[in-house]
Parts: sequence; C-alpha cells; structure tokens
Amino acid sequence: MSAPLPEILHQLNADMREDPDWGAVAAYIPELGRIDPAQFGIAVATADGALHAAGDADTAFSVQSITKVFTLAIALGRAGDHLWKRVGREPSGRAFNSIVQLEAEGGRPRNPFINAGAIVVTDQVLTGCEPRETLGEIMQFVRTAASDDNIHINETVATSENVHGHRNYALAHFLASTGNLNNSPEKTLGTYFHHCAIEMSVKQLAMAGRFLIDSPQLPRMILTQRIRRLNALMMTCGHYDGSGDFAYRVGIPAKSGVGGGILAVVPGVASVAVWSPGLNRYGNSLKGTEAMARLARIMGWSVF
Ligand code: GLU
Repeated sequence: MSAPLPEILHQLNADMREDPDWGAVAAYIPELGRIDPAQFGIAVATADGALHAAGDADTAFSVQSITKVFTLAIALGRAGDHLWKRVGREPSGRAFNSIVQLEAEGGRPRNPFINAGAIVVTDQVLTGCEPRETLGEIMQFVRTAASDDNIHINETVATSENVHGHRNYALAHFLASTGNLNNSPEKTLGTYFHHCAIEMSVKQLAMAGRFLIDSPQLPRMILTQRIRRLNALMMTCGHYDGSGDFAYRVGIPAKSGVGGGILAVVPGVASVAVWSPGLNRYGNSLKGTEAMARLARIMGWSVF
C-alpha cells in the first residue's frame, strides 16, 4: 500500500529538486525566456473534492498550450463534429509548430493540439464574435471549471509572443491561403496568443481540469462522450512528437504547454497539474514529465 497522497507529493517535490538538470526554458517567447527554470510545483484535485499540493504550487505560470483543451471543449460545444472537417484527430509526429506537414496535407492540421490545429480551433470559436467576447467566453469557462475568478491573462506575455510569433503567422497565413481560416490571421492569432497567455498556479490548473475527470461527484460542464474524446486526444496528441513517449512512461491523458505546465487526467479519479518551466527536447516540461511518471507508477494510475 502506498503512503498518503500529500506525503507522496512532498517526497516528489524533494526528489525533483535533487537533480541539477532543470531543462531549458522556451526562449522563443522572450517573456518566457526570463523565467527561472529551477522551480517545481504539483497539485492533485481528486473526484471527492480534495486538493493536495507541494512545491511552488501557488506560483502562477503561463499555461500556453494547455488552454487548447479548454478552447477545443468550447469549439466542439459550438460546432460539434463539423469541426473535424477543418482539423484532424491523428498524432502529428512533428514538432508543435511544424510548417512542412501543414503544406503537405493541404492546410488541414493533423490535430487540434499542434499550433496549426489550435489556430483553426481558435478561429472556429471566434467566428461570429469579436476577440474580446471570445476571450471572455474562454475565461469564463476556465474560471468556472476552476471555481476561481482570480485567473487572468498576462498581456505582456501575449504581446511578447505576438511580436515574435513569425512561425505562427506563417501557419495562419498558409491556413488562410487554403481557405481554412474564417477570420484574418491577425485577429485569430491575437485571440490565440491571448488565451495561451492565461496564467494559473498548479492548484488552479488542477481544479480547472476536474471537468475532464468524468465523475458523478463533480459538476458536469460538457457531455460525458465529449470528455472521453478530449481525453483520447490528450493521450494521443497532448505532448506533440513526444506523445508516444509520454503514454509509454506515464500512461494517462495529458496536455503540456511550453510554459512548463502539464495537465493530466486520471479518469474517474483525479486531475493533476505539474509545473517546472525547463523543457525537454520535445518542448514538454522535463521535471514535470518525470514527476508525472513517478506519481502514476506509485499510485497505479496508468490506464493500461
Ligand atoms: N503559444 C505557444 C505557441 O504558439 C504555445 C505552444 C505550446 O505551449 O506548446 O507557440
């Protein structure tokens, strides 16, 4: 029998601080490049309403691509299966910001979690709305999911990414050239950069992830069938070209962001958020991945 969860988290926090290799922060967004990599926090929100945490669990960080899960939930709620005409559901096997695959496949991104796919999803949510309304809707979804109104967008990070987001502009313009963008690249990317710049602590993120647990003990925000599908996509595509490795090592659905966060779901049991800003070669948190692998092993949480 394993030790109680709070004890396990405190031990993990101590273990993660021992190895001096913290990985490298995402310098391509200069505002994220300034963050001290030597930080680590972890939080677990369980289906029965408990929240346990250890380490830098109250420090707000840039959740970046993790917001793609929330925007996808909103887009599917709006467009339903029509969304899949515009974006696929297969792992990409390519870097999160790859351009070559998008051109080779005629402007239909492989999945909603690589940048090109998330730009299409943002465009879908934006259709018929102004960016302010769309961002308001995304913020409301995230705050409701977390039961916390103290969650905000960091404007400095959004601006930093906009100024340096040449690859994302290339993707958006290519999407527009193939007719797979309803709004202008500027309007779509302005909205995309802003939702990527949402900041949360691991405690807030673990709470926000509860809507994916699918437990009768929790308030329902989306259909059960949709929860299963989001989890399937997180498992197969949530870590970019490192998704297979994450599934092999950890074995639970999860989505990472270049801010160093990971949101993982143990179906029926818990939502886990981990953060350490230094990344591995796939752009996923180095220590966050290691901590998730150890936690899943100790708790027997792999779905396999
Ligand atoms: N906003 C980031 C980008 O578009 C998100 C990437 C990520 O978190 O993986 O490059």
